[in-house]
Amino acid sequence: MEKYIFGIDVGGTNIKIGVFNYDSVKNIKKFEIKTSKNKEISTILSDIKKFISEYVAENNINWNQVVGIGLGVPCPVKNGYVEKCANLSVNETNLIDELRRIFPAHITFAVGNDATLAALGENQSLAKPYDNAVLITLGTGVGGGIIVNGQLVEGSSGFGGEIGHMKVYDELVETCGCGSKGCLEQICGTAAIIKYAKKAMIGKKTILDSEKLNVKKIFDAAKMGDEVGMETVNRVAKYLGIAASILAITVEPDVFIIGGGISKAGPFFTNLVQKYFREYARFSTGKIPFQIAITGNDAGKIGSALLVKHHMKGNHED
Ligand SMILES: [Zn+2]
Repeated sequence: MEKYIFGIDVGGTNIKIGVFNYDSVKNIKKFEIKTSKNKEISTILSDIKKFISEYVAENNINWNQVVGIGLGVPCPVKNGYVEKCANLSVNETNLIDELRRIFPAHITFAVGNDATLAALGENQSLAKPYDNAVLITLGTGVGGGIIVNGQLVEGSSGFGGEIGHMKVYDELVETCGCGSKGCLEQICGTAAIIKYAKKAMIGKKTILDSEKLNVKKIFDAAKMGDEVGMETVNRVAKYLGIAASILAITVEPDVFIIGGGISKAGPFFTNLVQKYFREYARFSTGKIPFQIAITGNDAGKIGSALLVKHHMKGNHED
């Protein structure tokens, strides 16, 4: 009898659902449903329940074959508990309890922060997973996940690994969503990169068009040696290098994995980040390698499914 785990990654616009084979944690099928507009957690969970129930019925799967459900959410999570979340409507709720309430009792549930679970999924998808890894995801926001001795770092209330809000810059006048100024996300997030390039191009010769600017165009221009493109990308790489150097003397990972849209710029970008990193890194931490994420959009789903499996194994050993 084949056993299944559902690995789910809840985002602001979409809910990604992966159906995994329990033994291999190989993705069998993947789906996407829209996140409800009100972003209310009860609506999100009932949409997920509806989807899984229909999937199970349509594929003649017995509920007993569904052994685990893992959920990644864009919130700080500690043992399934979310105190407050900027991206979803959920307060002081244990999401594991909520899942237990709506799904059959035999199922094992696991809930974690989406970026942290992505780190787990990404690391475990490598040919040889590392014991200690830090994933930095660059997109609209800057997210992160930290793995130490093969275990996820949540911290005491779920803020462990919120790399995007490391203060790396002093002279920024705007206030970040978190209330601070000079967060990594304010330099390396998509909007910040575009904004900087727009300013940098004033009075300079560039192949970039300020009306049709996006991050890919900026990185492509940099690859072609465009001055504005290069200046913008260098700044992103520099502050990422600073952040990584701080992480290096904090957790000293075996590897830094760079994910998110920007990682598509490939070794051109990681080599640049590594150059700055080596400049700022102390002791022998400058040797830590940088690597591009390989699983793309699947990392969160894989991580959610893997966390369930970790929980199941943990329970057996008890
Ligand atoms: Zn911030």
